Amino acid sequence: MIVCPSCSASLETISRECTTCGFSPEVHEGFECWAPELAFAGDGFNPECFSGLARNEEGHFWFNGRNRLIVWALKKYFSQMTSYLEVGCGTGYVLRGVAENFPAVKLFGSELFVSGLKFASARLPDATLVQMDARKMPYCNEFDVVAAFDVLEHIEDDERALQGLFSAVKPGGGVVLTVPQHAWLWSAVDECACHQRRYSSHDLHKLVKSAGFQIMRSTSFVSFLLPAMLASRVFGRKENAQEIDNSNEFNLHPLLNSIFSSILRLESCLIQLGVNLPVGGSRLLVARKPLAS
Ligand SMILES: [Zn+2]
Repeated sequence: MIVCPSCSASLETISRECTTCGFSPEVHEGFECWAPELAFAGDGFNPECFSGLARNEEGHFWFNGRNRLIVWALKKYFSQMTSYLEVGCGTGYVLRGVAENFPAVKLFGSELFVSGLKFASARLPDATLVQMDARKMPYCNEFDVVAAFDVLEHIEDDERALQGLFSAVKPGGGVVLTVPQHAWLWSAVDECACHQRRYSSHDLHKLVKSAGFQIMRSTSFVSFLLPAMLASRVFGRKENAQEIDNSNEFNLHPLLNSIFSSILRLESCLIQLGVNLPVGGSRLLVARKPLAS
């Protein structure tokens, strides 16, 4: 159901208008906007980066490796899901991967920035895409699975965002998250990407549990590529974020891209066999919302 952001009345179905107070979300550029004040002026991300992202995601080892792991986690832990919301879906690269693997699932994507949704709607003509702020989640017990991939680190009040995710999941459903890991990997790349933090497993677990979730699986990934990641941060160190040209992050020789891709495949096999990798550039977490909640 939807909780009216204006009067907190519960709407049993996804409705465009609150029957109690008459509130209805504004529509901008064809998208329902539940937090319209932030649709074009939110923080935590530079919306000008969406076009570069959309161009560079295709074929890139990191985005493809992450997609593979996410699709595997959804099939393993939530094979029965019928509805799925990705919070902070950006350009829709992950959501399209999910759509290809779960053709029968009702797919929803949300994004703070309308400019991201425009790229997502080109990739996902059949998904429901809305503008909203996870910290003011309008959905309650609505989705079998809610996901956020490399989103929480952009949000100052990540605790509130996670409570929003918890609210949106049906009891018995779950959440799938990825976040950048290890504060010691912090670099100008994080500053350029508007990150608030990189997580430790301890901090992420605490955050997820205090929102009410039970952790089912938690593992690092991008572990075997950690030496390459460290080297690129040490040798490619820039004085400040302004010096980093975002496209440089993606400017990888095709041969190197293919080698890195094979390494991530190998790593993914280990994770699928049940190995929880202790260190890595990122962390994948799967958690359940208890039935009695
Ligand atoms: Zn209302």
